[in-house]
Amino acid sequence: MTKRPRLTTTAGAPLASNQDAKTVGPRGPLLLEDHQLIEKLAHQNRERIPERVVHAKGWGAYGTFTVTDDITRYTRADIFSAVGKQTEMLARFSTVAGEQGAADAERDVRGFALKFYTEEGNWDLVGNNTPVFFVADPYKFPDFIHTQKRHPRTNLRSATAMWDFWSLCPESLHQVTILMSDRGIPTDPSRMNGYGSHAFSFWNHAGERYWVKFHFKTQQGHAHFTNHEAAQVVAKSRESYQEALYGMIESGEFPKWTLYVQIMPEGEEDRFEHNPFDLTKVWPHGAYPLIKVGEMELNRNPDNYFAEIEQSAFNPSNVVPGIGFSPDKMLQGRLFSYPDAHRYRIGTHYEALEVNRPRCPVHHYHLHGEMPFGLRTNPDAYYEPNSFGGPVADPSVEEPSHRYAGDVARYDFRGEADHFSQPRALFNLFDDDQKHRLFHNIAAAMQGVPQFIIDRQLALFDRVDSAYGAGVRQALATQARDDEELSLSTSHAAGDGAQAPDPNGGGAPRLP
Ligand code: NDP
Repeated sequence: MTKRPRLTTTAGAPLASNQDAKTVGPRGPLLLEDHQLIEKLAHQNRERIPERVVHAKGWGAYGTFTVTDDITRYTRADIFSAVGKQTEMLARFSTVAGEQGAADAERDVRGFALKFYTEEGNWDLVGNNTPVFFVADPYKFPDFIHTQKRHPRTNLRSATAMWDFWSLCPESLHQVTILMSDRGIPTDPSRMNGYGSHAFSFWNHAGERYWVKFHFKTQQGHAHFTNHEAAQVVAKSRESYQEALYGMIESGEFPKWTLYVQIMPEGEEDRFEHNPFDLTKVWPHGAYPLIKVGEMELNRNPDNYFAEIEQSAFNPSNVVPGIGFSPDKMLQGRLFSYPDAHRYRIGTHYEALEVNRPRCPVHHYHLHGEMPFGLRTNPDAYYEPNSFGGPVADPSVEEPSHRYAGDVARYDFRGEADHFSQPRALFNLFDDDQKHRLFHNIAAAMQGVPQFIIDRQLALFDRVDSAYGAGVRQALATQARDDEELSLSTSHAAGDGAQAPDPNGGGAPRLP
């Protein structure tokens, strides 16, 4: 048997016991001088950090990204510099609304966050399993998330709040249709696509800029649960995604995705039928075909979930030379929100944690603060400019200038924008069975919502396609009849005829 290491305090001193408190006599009381007991209890009190406000429940693994096709004419990014080049990466998938203890198989958008440890710094692509989002302006994001979280008084999720908000924000129709479609509950993280969602930019060695959208297509094939199937899964296990992803990788069955990009040359944005930087819209494949780039494989489970997944910190602001931003307002808002969330949750030096640490050299002039571990500043060059050999900026990585022009105003594009044609294109992709499930998923999610809100949402579905509104109306009617029958039989059995009060004033969601 291998020799076991000697147990020590956090200061490295060997410990005589980790079982029995130091007491006056065998029956106690305790002595304050048993500092190691105090240390142990104090550590336990500090075992949690604030969970993420959104995307709290997650599952992640390490992997490898391999370039299969040459896109160097669009970008000088080191990660794409040669066919065959491999880059270590980390993925974290998540649900959006549920807390850390929430069930995995819930109807929700899934986060699809990737960190590529490139030779020129970490590139984080912090996307979702959907190519669009509910809102296009960061002013609306906190309000939208409030509707997905718990009602302040009842502490229950509120379908009323969700549909009230969605029905007042027609730009949400596209994402709502995806969420309520089959793809709203993937069976596990390996059976869904990932999208960068926003438009980003690429720039090449010649200083030319291209707008770009990222698509990671699952090689495992899409697989989804119906509401009924998901309810059965959740009844057996709330951790079905963790079990699936961890289990696949442990058994050597490594999930893979193919990366494609869509490219729009700079200057073409005004010729696009929509605002190409509107997060509620896709770029149709017919106009901007998918260009294959490479393959992502997840092949290593973390050794410590807390250290490597809970403390993993993804920032849309982590770009590398050759990759830049776009005017997308939601992206610009996230450039602030994400690093701010990590500074709050993890601490000032969250990027120095092992999971977040770049694999290339890091040199900067940030000093001090809580736990500045791993900071190796030149002791005499702790300011800039200096004469003592401190790091200097490299103008060769300056990105080409943007050509933005316009009057400064708070633009409300909602009045003139077309919120209907892209949800219509999606609706027309569904076969009859898919449409049937869409209608019934929506009807189930609307249970308890006041009629005036339902009517407002139905009017939006009508504008997508009259068959969409009609289908949901019919599903609502069927559902109401089923509920009535159920309630009659239940009240008969219970013998009191009482209906449970709706704790949200008409809104407890029944999702899934
Ligand atoms: P295409 O026929 O070229 O592409 C259709 C896309 O829809 C495919 O990417 C497919 O993904 C995806 N899809 C199929 N079923 C669903 C679903 N239930 N939920 C979400 N996505 C689904 O059409 P267009 O490019 O002209 O787009 C038509 C509509 O397809 C859009 O309005 C949009 O709603 C949707 N879509 C478009 C995407 C884009 O980037 N153009 C990306 C994803 C969706 P897969 O190939 O993996 O099956």
